[in-house]
Amino acid sequence: MKSAKLSAAACAFVLADLPGLDGHELSSRRAFELRSHLADCADCGEVAASYRGMRRTLAELHDVPATPPAGLLDQLLDNAANPGLAERAASVGRAAATDSRPKVVAAGIGAVAAGGIGLLAWRALRSRRPAA
Ligand SMILES: [Zn+2]
Repeated sequence: MKSAKLSAAACAFVLADLPGLDGHELSSRRAFELRSHLADCADCGEVAASYRGMRRTLAELHDVPATPPAGLLDQLLDNAANPGLAERAASVGRAAATDSRPKVVAAGIGAVAAGGIGLLAWRALRSRRPAA
């Protein structure tokens, strides 16, 4: 440990802006403040690492091919003749169960949605604060 225990208030002040650190959305002065804190605080460093991991995952999802599972078109055409809501939902469920790729895509969509909502919420909160 490089320094004495940092205060919870200092950590809260850092964590408030941490989502913007690797996205180059902070002033260089603020980024320097955060990086200085992260050098001494393992707890905040752990949170920063998780944000970096999430950004990396989101970037990698860009490269996942979104190829529909084999037989999906035939199932959809068959179901078009009998478009009950329950049957349509079951068809999508069967298609997802026969190929792992839709699960990956669905998980990716979920991760993008969660991460996007988090970043949007952070930006909205940040824009309400007066400039430091
Ligand atoms: Zn901290």
